[in-house]
Order: sequence, then C-alpha cells, then structure tokens
Amino acid sequence: MWGSGAGYGRGVVVAEVRGGECSMDEGERSRRAEAGRGAAEELLARQVSGVVLTWVDTGGITRAKAVPCGRLEHAAAWGVGMSPAFDFCMLDDSILKGPFSAGPVGDLRLHPDLDRLAVLAALPGWAWAPADRYDLDGRPHPRDGRGQARRAVERLGADGFTVRAAFEVEWSLSLGHGDEFVPACGGPAYGMTPFMEQADYLRDVLDALTATGVSVDQIHPEYAAGQFEVSVAATDPLAAADTFVLVRETIRAISHRHGMRASFAPMVTTDGVGNGAHVHLSLWRDGRNLMSGGDGGYGLTPTGESFAAGILSRLPALLAIGAPSAASYLRLIPFHWAGAFACWGWENREAALRFVPGASGDGARAANFEIKSFDATANPYLLMAALLAAGQTGLAEKAVLPAPVDINPAKLEPSRSVPALPSSLEEAVQALESDDALAEALGEPMITAITVVRRGEAALFDSCTNEEIVARTRWRH
Ligand code: GLU
Ligand code: MG
Repeated sequence: MWGSGAGYGRGVVVAEVRGGECSMDEGERSRRAEAGRGAAEELLARQVSGVVLTWVDTGGITRAKAVPCGRLEHAAAWGVGMSPAFDFCMLDDSILKGPFSAGPVGDLRLHPDLDRLAVLAALPGWAWAPADRYDLDGRPHPRDGRGQARRAVERLGADGFTVRAAFEVEWSLSLGHGDEFVPACGGPAYGMTPFMEQADYLRDVLDALTATGVSVDQIHPEYAAGQFEVSVAATDPLAAADTFVLVRETIRAISHRHGMRASFAPMVTTDGVGNGAHVHLSLWRDGRNLMSGGDGGYGLTPTGESFAAGILSRLPALLAIGAPSAASYLRLIPFHWAGAFACWGWENREAALRFVPGASGDGARAANFEIKSFDATANPYLLMAALLAAGQTGLAEKAVLPAPVDINPAKLEPSRSVPALPSSLEEAVQALESDDALAEALGEPMITAITVVRRGEAALFDSCTNEEIVARTRWRH
C-alpha cells in the first residue's frame, strides 16, 4: 500500500479531554497538516490531481467527497464538511427525520486517514483515503463506523488478542449501463467459459487491484450467470474493512470502463443465488492462531472456540448490521450457500459459520471461521466492530459452541434442528435491540441510527413486491 510506513501516520495523539472524549489539540492538527503536505507533494509528483475521501453510511452506501492535492494539507488538519443527516439516510437517498436528528443543521468533519492513502489505478489521476469522522471540536464522532472498528480492535488488543480478517467480494456483472440486469456471461458455474469470455475484464480488475496495493488471493467466476468473486489476503480488521471499500470501488470503475455495470446487491434478480460478503476471522495471541492446534473439535483451542461462540450466539442481532437491507432476506435462504442456519460446521457451506481448518499442515496459518450470512449492503466498519465485540463477549463468557452440523442443516432430523435466523429486517432489529453487549459496545447513538434506518427501509419496501425490492436495491451499494 502506498503511503504505509511513509510517516503520514494518523496516530492517536490527542490532548484535550472533555466529557471523557478526547479532541485534537493544536499540535495534533499541525502534525496532520504536515503529513498532508508531504503526501500532496508525492501525489503531485505522480500526476495525481486530487484525493477522494470515502466513508460508509449507516445503510452501507459508500459516500464521497474529493479535494485537490493542494487542499490535502488543510483537509488532513481540519477535515472536510459533511452533514450528519446522512447518518439517517436511506438507500433511496431520502433522509429520515425525527428527534434523533437535527435535520439540515450541523456539520461533521471527514479526516482522511493518510496511513491508508492509495493511488487509484482504476481512476487515473485520483488517489483515495478512507475518512474518519470527527465533530467540529475535533472529537471522534460516536456514529463513525470506522472509529468503532478501530476501538474494537484496540479493546481486543488490550486483552492481548489480535484478529486477522478478510471480506470476500461477490458481484454480478451486467452488460451496458442500463438498470436492468443483463448477465455479462452465462455459465457454467465456476466455468472456464465465463472466465474466457471476460478474461480481459478480469485481468484489468486484477491488475488494478494489485497496482492499488490489494493482495489478491483468488479471482473467479461464481455460480450464477455474470457472477464473479475476488478473495483477498487477511489483514487486521480495520484494514480489511478499508480493503472491502477499495475492492468494490475498483471493480465498479473497471466495469464501467468496459461498458458494463457491477452490482454488489444481495440479489440482482428475484431467483437464483445472490451475492454474499462473507467475513473470514481468526483470533491470534502471541503470534499463534487460536483456531488451530488446540485440543477441541477440529483442533480449535478453547479460546478460539469461545470467540466463535460469542459470534454465533449473537448472530440474530448481528444480522441487523451484516444483512441490513430488505433485499438481504431474499438472499438469506436455505440451499443457496448463504448461511441461513444459526449453526456451525466443518467446511459446511450451508452453516452460518463455516469452519475452515486449512489444508493439513497449513492450519496454523490458515484456519479461520467464515461467517457467510452477511452481504455487501452492510457497512463493513460497523460489521467488523460488532463482530469483534460479539467475539470478545464470547471470550469473557467462556462461551462454548453447540455441536457442529456435518450435513446440510435443512436436512437435519427435527430432534437435531438448529435455531432459525431472522427472516426479516424487523426481526433482526428486534434482536439487536435486546442485545445488551452489542448496545454497550456500539453505544446508544449508533444503535439508534441503525434501528431508525433499518425500520425506515423496512417501511419503504413494506408494500413492494420482491421484484421492486431487488430493482431498487440493485445499483445502490
Ligand atoms: N453466493 C453465495 C452467497 O450468497 C455464496 C457462494 C459461496 O459459497 O461462495 O453467499
Ligand atoms: Mg463465493
């Protein structure tokens, strides 16, 4: 990644403390200004005109503001203005009103994280930096998902743990720029034929990702017509969420250049399989992967098991964050490898938690849990924050996993059946509202924004057909 290790560190230097919240002091602002100045010089030398700052809203949409390189110094120190009303924005861009929001009044500052600055190969002349959101006094905003993810990493770090994480990105490629979905290739699933038909496009995606500093593990045609997937190397959770944004925007840009359109929506048509955004997680301590080499089932350590059990037991509530749109529940159904069952199992692709042990001899590096139920309408930062909090709660409770499921859970005898996951947004929201651990980890302002936006979107689609839900979600995330 360009910029990392270059001394542009955001750092965590803070000085003033008011009401328990730290705000940036003058020294921190001038340190950031200097970093911005240095970064701008390097960008200009690389023929970059400006930097696009992104943040992801409560409803999972990536929103952007750009500054010319000459303005980066100021943006780094003082941020770029953005209305807080977008915390209550729905996927159709209507903004919810209520006592929770000051409506058109107020401002937030988007501060580029220059540690993650990248020159965008897919958008020549542009660089990108994810933004942290602060209030006008320079205090981290309580509804900033990226800040929440950073704090969740720090909380686990204080207990001696690190997490390695990665999002898998699935997308559906449509011919032309129209709103209908016209698959850019046919089958067979995972076939060499769709690969060949879109080989130039896939090479351009791969080259752009690599040039942008993304470490690609695999890229391939998926099951459905026009569907593809890219998986990337695991990193720390905050970087994984940033990478998820970067990968999607790179794919979107390359698709556009090839005269096509990429949809990351849970469903692009009402039938067939959808697009997931599976999250891979492994827990580490003292350089050791706790998902491997233990005495538990499949080599799990008791600590690794507790972390996974904390996530599994909170999955209904986590769906309000990881499967946050009405369309999410059209995808999250049995027989679609979407993780619709609240259970876990060894390499079980119908279980919400698929345990991936890694090939024999490689487990210490590769073993992890893949959480399959989530999709790309989620805010990845918020999802990471919630997942880490759920896992940490499992550690505190010394939680244990139920028996693993080693067949398709839909085919279990009634006596062995596993709990159903929420089948609607409202059910997931109710589960989140009754989860004290997640409420404490994310804080009341964040929980309010999540529940308000989810209920707003549920009402928006209340009287819609599945066709309408799919059509109105298809190109938004
Ligand atoms: N496309 C499936 C989903 O909706 C996942 C297929 C797979 O296992 O990669 O999550
Ligand atoms: Mg897949």
